[in-house]
Amino acid sequence: MHIEPTATDRIVVVGGGQAGADFVAALRMAGHQGPVTLVGAEPGYPYARPPLSKAYLSGKATAEDLYIRPPAMYEQQGIDLRTGTRVTAIDRTARHVVLADGERLSYAHLVLATGGRARRLPAPGLDAAPNVHYLRTLADVAAMRHRFVPGARLAVVGGGYVGLEVAAVARQVGLDVTVLEALPRVLARVTAPQVSAFYQRVHTEEGVDIRVDTAVTGFAFASDGSVAAVELKSGERIDADLVLVGIGLVPDTELAEQAGLAVDNGIVVDEYCRTEDPAVLAIGDCTSHPCGEHGGRRRLESVPNASEQARVAAATVTGSLQPYTAIPWFWSDQYDVKLQTTGLSTGYDEVVIRGTTETGRSFAAFYLKDGLVRAADVVCSPRDFTAARKLVAARARVAPEALRDLSVPLKQLL
Ligand SMILES: Cc1cc2nc3c(=O)[nH]c(=O)nc-3n(C[C@H](O)[C@H](O)[C@H](O)COP(=O)(O)OP(=O)(O)OC[C@H]3O[C@@H](n4cnc5c(N)ncnc54)[C@H](O)[C@@H]3O)c2cc1C
Repeated sequence: MHIEPTATDRIVVVGGGQAGADFVAALRMAGHQGPVTLVGAEPGYPYARPPLSKAYLSGKATAEDLYIRPPAMYEQQGIDLRTGTRVTAIDRTARHVVLADGERLSYAHLVLATGGRARRLPAPGLDAAPNVHYLRTLADVAAMRHRFVPGARLAVVGGGYVGLEVAAVARQVGLDVTVLEALPRVLARVTAPQVSAFYQRVHTEEGVDIRVDTAVTGFAFASDGSVAAVELKSGERIDADLVLVGIGLVPDTELAEQAGLAVDNGIVVDEYCRTEDPAVLAIGDCTSHPCGEHGGRRRLESVPNASEQARVAAATVTGSLQPYTAIPWFWSDQYDVKLQTTGLSTGYDEVVIRGTTETGRSFAAFYLKDGLVRAADVVCSPRDFTAARKLVAARARVAPEALRDLSVPLKQLL
């Protein structure tokens, strides 16, 4: 890639989350020796978000346990870490960013790793209600901790991964939990109906009141402005001491848009994480990137995606182009149920269940398209997950009955 000479060889990263922290480490690993500045709006060292709805929320992990890299790494690697500071503008012509205090930082390469923010539920009075919570940051957990106590009544709006993981921790802590999902099943956008049914069963077994096909129409407020109950379309009211809204993510793309970069449900990048400006790259949850064999574009919200794009971007910046070809994967922990997914299940025409979703807590769901294994959800079976990854990577053509046959180890199907 040809880069115009500039007054600096500094690389500026905007966003101190998973992608930003992994990128600066990958950049040094790739041999870049020039100055690197990482600007992050949140205070403190970059941390991993997955434990926010798992071990950290349950109190089993501390904030320090969440650090993506040891704090000493930034100094040792000569990373100029500026957290608690927001980038407010990008001047692509002058090649500098502007910080909230007016300081300008010039760059040779700019990497946008701005992630996203929790989607807000638009309802009058909700933003001011002290017991309505979202979950994206350490600060969000801090805000809800004192209400997240045994016996409290928690209403979770949204049956996605974050909502269900919070419901699981809440039950373990001893809260009384109701999950309200507008669609006919939980996890509807990401899994097959059988997998949704499995999760609904497990949560019901654990004492969660799971309501699907349940539209929230409003909220009843107490005199102090807090929510006292969630109102449903059916006319029913769910009394609540706290509400957790988990209805998805809005990518933080405003900086890129203001700088005139293309945005289409994410900052548009190619398979090398480049925007249309050769000096500006973007990585992580905020990007819309080419979908490889699936065609089109996609925006992924996962740690493996953020880490892989960080690695790809570091290669791009250091001049050894390596396209993003990794197969997406993801995990979710709820109670004793560990889900691992590989591939993207969108567009499947057949689901094959290995084992059963109707009893027990271990099975695998394979998503096939035209007879080829495209994706798999594996529950509580690391060995099957290893084999499933290989089947998905190989786009293996496997007969459904062979996938179903528990007497044949999956690895024999490779
Ligand atoms: C509760 C929860 C549980 C999750 N569980 C899992 C899981 O089990 N498995 C999994 O794979 N993924 C999980 N994820 C998703 C995963 O955490 C994200 O995909 C990952 O954090 C994305 O990293 P990122 O760096 O792209 O974005 P982020 O982590 O969102 O980081 C972006 C950072 O940029 C900062 N920023 C934004 N704008 C500016 C600006 N203008 N100036 C300076 N800084 C700015 C933000 O403040 C933020 O700190 C979970 C997420 C959440 C919230």
